Amino acid sequence: MNFLVTGGAGYIGSVVATRLLEEGHGVTVLDDLSTGHFDAVPEGASFVESKVHDAGAALAGRHFDGVVHLAASSLVAESIADPEKYHANNVVGTRLLLDALRDIGVGRLVFSSTAAVYGEPETVPIDEDAPTRPVNPYGASKLAVDQMLAEEAQAGELGAVSLRYFNVAGAYAGRGERHSPESHLVPIALEAAIGLRQGLAIYGQDYPTPDGTCVRDYIHVADLADAHLVALDVIRPGHHRVYNLGNGAGFSVREVLAAVEEVTGVELEVDLAGRRPGDPAVLVASAERARRELGWEPTRPALEQMIGDAWQVLRERAGRS
Ligand code: UDP
Repeated sequence: MNFLVTGGAGYIGSVVATRLLEEGHGVTVLDDLSTGHFDAVPEGASFVESKVHDAGAALAGRHFDGVVHLAASSLVAESIADPEKYHANNVVGTRLLLDALRDIGVGRLVFSSTAAVYGEPETVPIDEDAPTRPVNPYGASKLAVDQMLAEEAQAGELGAVSLRYFNVAGAYAGRGERHSPESHLVPIALEAAIGLRQGLAIYGQDYPTPDGTCVRDYIHVADLADAHLVALDVIRPGHHRVYNLGNGAGFSVREVLAAVEEVTGVELEVDLAGRRPGDPAVLVASAERARRELGWEPTRPALEQMIGDAWQVLRERAGRS
């Protein structure tokens, strides 16, 4: 089949595009390269450089069997400082993309949503029926799109799935995290280990967790990508369904850093800093619905494998292997 991947030059999108190609599908990547990298677009994919806002003109006359929509602004801190950007790119951009898709007759869409829609959870693990109370404009913008998709599906022919990612890590087929600036724990710790930055900070040591640092559920980017492939298969016209994607296991910031030291053999220089605004204490997924309804089973649940795969790609990029 023939699929469109918006944001396919980014970290997760380029792995989704790679996995679709590996399964024998045709892939077109649409990306404005504002944060993505052209060299991450896999060989064999067609590339369209465009904002999702301009997808109508960029995709006129093309045919796709389905779309994976990942193009978005995705920095929590930036969203607090500049909420308008998140409304414009994530909400308005998706609205215009949906209009364009309707015009070219595409009725199947997988959307990259986020655990940030849940805010500070009352209970963990978090399932899809948990209250959605985002604590930052990034989470709010993704929730607005989830709701838009549900309403659009109910009203017509669109079939959609929202995948709510927990903490994505690891690398696949040479594709790892390359954000600028980098804000995520695993790549920051690995950059410190390889000497690209001087140590790192732990944000907050007084959370109500066993060691006082935040607990997160880490999922390998290849496992995450595979969920998009099975989601494309189960979408039914007129229906919208939400799935959480995680491993159901929580690791504290200190545990992640210990695993990074173990994998790299480097002792990290760590600063103890204050809490980062907008960080909930614990985010751990219940991905039972995805297992049950999608038959999705993560095959790389070990934190050491995620860190090891990311480490290998970083070393290659830095010319150290
Ligand atoms: N974190 C940290 N130091 C860093 C980056 C992140 O202590 O340099 C913490 C952050 O406060 C959070 C956890 O690591 O508790 C995971 O953060 P990340 O940005 O990787 O993902 P998020 O959970 O915010 O999506």
